[in-house]
Amino acid sequence: MTDLSQFKPVEQLVHKKTEVHKPRFPVIDAHNHLAQPFGGGWDRKPLSELLDAMDQANITHFVSLDGGWGEDKFNDQIENIKNKAPDKFSIFAGIDWTQWEKMGEAFVPWAITSLKRQAANGASGLKIWKDLGLHIRDENGVRVDLDDERISDIWDTAAELRLPVLIHTADPVAFFTPIDERNERIEELGAYPEWAFSPPQFPSFSHLIDRFTRLISLHPNTTFIGAHVGCYAENLQMVSQMLDQFPNYFIDISARIGELGRQPYTARKFFIQHSDRILFGLDMGPKVDGYRLYYRFLETDDEYFNYSTREVPTQGRWYIHGIYLPDDVLQKVYSTNARRILKLERN
Ligand SMILES: [Zn+2]
Repeated sequence: MTDLSQFKPVEQLVHKKTEVHKPRFPVIDAHNHLAQPFGGGWDRKPLSELLDAMDQANITHFVSLDGGWGEDKFNDQIENIKNKAPDKFSIFAGIDWTQWEKMGEAFVPWAITSLKRQAANGASGLKIWKDLGLHIRDENGVRVDLDDERISDIWDTAAELRLPVLIHTADPVAFFTPIDERNERIEELGAYPEWAFSPPQFPSFSHLIDRFTRLISLHPNTTFIGAHVGCYAENLQMVSQMLDQFPNYFIDISARIGELGRQPYTARKFFIQHSDRILFGLDMGPKVDGYRLYYRFLETDDEYFNYSTREVPTQGRWYIHGIYLPDDVLQKVYSTNARRILKLERN
């Protein structure tokens, strides 16, 4: 063997392996997608297949974040999915930030009108993708930060419309550090070089998180959801401080059991301490084997298992441990918190 990428060690530990086919309580998936690329194209499959997959994993309600901004894609998901099974789906709207460069000062009023139209059409929230802060530029070609005051009316409009705002900013910390033998995500960045955001072409990780923190502090009437454990699963102490500081702030756990499960003692305390503010999410389409991994992580005290559905875990070559959450915490994370934020009737 000459190459570490070929390394596939056979585990010799003898220990308990629990198969969790169904969650202990029904689940609301508050961070997922249906369209390509993240949702696997389920928006093009028959609705019955989608409902079937959800049933198999006991997902009673599914949030699709890739509604787009009011053209075809958004209307598609509202018309073909939500309107046919309204109590099963919430679709989040978006903002087409790329128009800013062309529209200049007219952009923000236009974006607000678009957001109001999407709310009237049935959008349940607003999704902000990571391009705001990393790529989006104003009419002068200057990069726009999340807390830029020119866009503050957008967050206040979301509050007036009672739409929660789910934000993904930055990315794993290692995506912002040099790609060398010291980078813990080096294999993943090798597979997806476009995910590397090394300075100076991009703002630093801490710059993005600081802007995000300031944004939340400036808009106490807007409900914010920090995607992927507040975009900083590597530092639960920091996320914990933000949750303590801002009552309008929530987080989802999507795509981050790889991080949570390699710090199981801290993660378990974090879930128990902030049980009212954590939402369940998968972020890889309605994938039944993916859901089962999450249930195993949250419900069991199994040790040292693969957090990915692939043979070699995708985010890095480490394994995770379950955090055996108490029933009352599980119920809040699985559905109570999401029900409150999405304003869903109990069904
Ligand atoms: Zn996502």
